[in-house]
Amino acid sequence: MSRLRVSILCVVTILMTMPFQLFAASLTDIQPIVRQAPVPFPLSGKTVLAYEVAFNDPRPLGLELVACTVTNQDGKTVASYDGSTLNEMVKLPDDRKVTERAKQFSGILLRPVIFLWLSFSSDEPVPTALGHQLVFADKDGTQATISVPNIELSASAPAALPSPLTGPNWVATAAFANDTYHRRSLILIDGKNYLAQRFAVDFVQYDNKGRLFTGNRSKNESYPYYGAPVLSVAKATVCHIYDGVPDNTPGEFPPHDALTRDSVPGNHVILDLGEGRYALYGHLIPGSITVKTGQAVDVGDVLARLGNSGNSDAPHLHFHLCDACDALACEGLPFALNRYTAVGTAVPDIYEQGFGMTSHTPMPAVLTAMPNLTVMDMK
Ligand SMILES: [Zn+2]
Repeated sequence: MSRLRVSILCVVTILMTMPFQLFAASLTDIQPIVRQAPVPFPLSGKTVLAYEVAFNDPRPLGLELVACTVTNQDGKTVASYDGSTLNEMVKLPDDRKVTERAKQFSGILLRPVIFLWLSFSSDEPVPTALGHQLVFADKDGTQATISVPNIELSASAPAALPSPLTGPNWVATAAFANDTYHRRSLILIDGKNYLAQRFAVDFVQYDNKGRLFTGNRSKNESYPYYGAPVLSVAKATVCHIYDGVPDNTPGEFPPHDALTRDSVPGNHVILDLGEGRYALYGHLIPGSITVKTGQAVDVGDVLARLGNSGNSDAPHLHFHLCDACDALACEGLPFALNRYTAVGTAVPDIYEQGFGMTSHTPMPAVLTAMPNLTVMDMK
C-alpha cells in the first residue's frame, strides 16, 4: 500500500534567511508534512500529482505563509506559488471548538493545509520525489524558510476500473480538480483529519433532451436516473454495507444534526477491491442494497439503486476509492475508468442551468480520470 512507502520525517530542516533569534523558536513549531505520498494519475493527456502539505497554524506565532516552492529529487523547482494563487490553495482552521461530537465526526480542520495539484505534459519528466520550501513572514515582512524533507512518490498506479453506471450522458460532477468540495473535504474523525473524498465523483445523468429532471424538481422520481442500477467495478468482496437512511427531498439537505458519521454517505456499499483499495458507493435508495457483507461480486453485478440519502440534496451516485474499508476514515486514491467516452463538458452549475455543454467535442476513449464536469457515455 502506498501509505507504507511514505517516508514522513518528523525532523524539519530549518533554513534561516533572517536573524535566527526572530524565528528560531516559532519555526520549530510549524512541523510541516506531506499528508500522503501522491499516486500519479492520467488526466486530459497529462500526469497529475494531487496531494496536500499540512503544518501547524502560524497565526498564533504572528506569522503567515507567503510562498511555497516545490522541487524535484534534484532540487530543481517544478512549481512555485505566492499571493492570491497560494491563498486559494490554502485552507486554514476556523475558530470552531472541538466538541466531543465534533471529534467523532465533523468538518473541523486541525491544521492548515496546502492543496497541491501538479500537472506534467508528456514531454515533461514527472518527479520521483518532491521537496517543499515554505516561506513564512512576520508582521514586519521579515521572512524565513522551512524545508520539508523530500518525499518519494507512491509506486502505486491508479486503479483502472470499468464504469459504476451504464448509459449515455452521465455527468461527473465535483470530479478530478483541485477546487471541488470533494477535493477540499477534510473531515475530523476520532481526533484525526481524513481526506477520503480526495478523488470522489458525484454522478448525475442528463436525459436525451439534456435535462436532469422533468416536472416537479422536488420529487426524486422527477429525475429519470433516480433508481439507476449501480454496478460493481471489480471482482471484489463486499466489506461493509449501511442501510436505513431515508431519501431526501430534492433541493433540501437533511438537518446537519440528523447526520452521523455512519449516515452522512447515506445508504452505502463498500467493496474491497484488493491491493489496499476500497470502493464506496454512497446515497443509495433505502432498502435497495442487494448484496451482503462478505459476499463476492463480479464486474457489472448490481449492488443497489442510485438514490438521494444522507448528505445529499439531489439524486446522485457518490463514488470514490479509498485505502480502508470505511466511508470517511481513510485516504482517497485516484482511479481511472476504462469504459467510457467523453462527449463534452457540462456547465458549472448544472443544477441551476440544467443542460448546457460548453463543448460537444467527443474525446477519444482513453484510460483516464474524469476531468470535473465531463459528460460521458458509459458502457
Ligand atoms: Zn459526493
